[in-house]
Amino acid sequence: MESAHARPFRLGDDWRRASDDEALVSIDPADGSVAGVVTRASVADVEAAVDIASAAFRRRAWRDLRPDQRAGLLHEVSRRLGAEHDSLARLQMRDSGKPLKECANMVASASYFFRYYASLCETWQDEVTSPRGPYFSMSVAEPYGVVAAITPWNSPIMAEAQKVAPALAAGNAVILKPSEETPQLALELERICREAGLPAGLLSVLPGTGEEVGAALVDHPGVRMVSFTGGTETGRAIAIAAGRRLIPVGLELGGKSPHIVFEDADFEKAVAGVASGIYGSAGQSCVAGTRLFVQRSIYQRFVEALVAFTRTVRVGAPDDPATQMGPLISRAHRDKVAGYVALARQEGGRILAGGGIPEAPALAAGWYFEPTVIEGLPNHARTCQEEIFGPVLVCLPFDDEDDVIAQANDTVYGLAAGMWTGDYARAWRVARALEAGSVWINTYKQSHIATAFGGFKASGIGREKGFHGLRLYSQVKSVFFGMHDAPMSL
Ligand code: NAD
Repeated sequence: MESAHARPFRLGDDWRRASDDEALVSIDPADGSVAGVVTRASVADVEAAVDIASAAFRRRAWRDLRPDQRAGLLHEVSRRLGAEHDSLARLQMRDSGKPLKECANMVASASYFFRYYASLCETWQDEVTSPRGPYFSMSVAEPYGVVAAITPWNSPIMAEAQKVAPALAAGNAVILKPSEETPQLALELERICREAGLPAGLLSVLPGTGEEVGAALVDHPGVRMVSFTGGTETGRAIAIAAGRRLIPVGLELGGKSPHIVFEDADFEKAVAGVASGIYGSAGQSCVAGTRLFVQRSIYQRFVEALVAFTRTVRVGAPDDPATQMGPLISRAHRDKVAGYVALARQEGGRILAGGGIPEAPALAAGWYFEPTVIEGLPNHARTCQEEIFGPVLVCLPFDDEDDVIAQANDTVYGLAAGMWTGDYARAWRVARALEAGSVWINTYKQSHIATAFGGFKASGIGREKGFHGLRLYSQVKSVFFGMHDAPMSL
């Protein structure tokens, strides 16, 4: 029997509608209400989607379209995302629990990704190499074919546009599997692409679970490349599966980023920067600055100021403009975060601020957690090494540059790092010594659509954004034209 409520998803020219036991329910983390019900994809849908995407790719209509025409369609997607900005931001807020202003920024970013990759699509130039004989040679970028894009729940439409826009710009067909926690924005993106005129089959969205639909996609012989954003252990499983099939992967994974404050830093700016680096998105950010290192001479004063600042952070409903920190994504995730605070206590840590569930009755129905500051743990403690993905900061003192570089790099992760200092020569030295894909100096969490983003070590493989983001979805073919005056000799 078909479910009357579940939103269907599209497979080519058809719609898949859920029967009653096939619905995926998205819960609003702010109050536990139902944010949406969508049809849950199955392994059979993976088969169908890959067939449809392969056929659409083989028709060559999209990849052979002139780049300016392909760009025209991507521009139209960008325009439509902009036109629907407010309703999309609200939907994302209900799906993910992030404050409305953060969701609004993410929808705007999604629109900019399509505009940016439209421009790159139109202006990208292939390479001609200077001849060294009677031939003319060039290297051209070609799409892989069917690309599987798998995304997490923490920035749905932005992470999805960051993959879909360049993958389509490069001429691929894309199958997008959003997180089962936040499936609605990807379906909206597919609708907008379709309404903008994207030919059927070039973008399919499969709202299913990772273990079932995600794994089946990565294993499917028709999928020629996988682009994944999510946790490191999931990324490892995907890399192993892709390795067996010898297909390329782009992996944007987890982090445990060091945030360093030297004694010569601008004190007030550093306090605010550290707080925004951890409490933004309630710590549910891959680049959250989760390990605070403060030079010993100012450690006590700095941590006191940070604790005072932390007590002013307004935890509240995502649609309240005054809210600085919304809820966590789910009850299970909040339990995990609370479990890490309990672990910190067992490991000998002192909780200086927060550490529990807010008491305000207005927040009782949601998955809120207090902004939390912990000290007294060594860098090798599990709380200092494992990604918590919540508003939990650990504070550690350091003596000098060598000490902090060694401690900051003593982690399996390498996604991002930040530092506050008045000495730019030192900033440069330390930035070069840190093992991280992004380093921020006297700022934190800045991003730029054209600046490469990705991780060192267990934080990822490959780079998104900018030209790197387009190259990720292209393979290079070299073509030689002979210009021989005489027959070739043996
Ligand atoms: P997750 O790894 O649990 O899930 C991510 C996606 O992978 C989901 O769509 C999920 O359904 C799917 N998945 C799960 N198991 C799978 C499998 N075996 N095969 C294929 N797909 C599978 O991550 P999450 O909890 O949704 O997101 C939080 C994580 O994402 C954090 O670790 C965070 O650091 C990371 N993240 C990284 C970046 C980055 O750019 N580096 C950005 C955002 C989030």
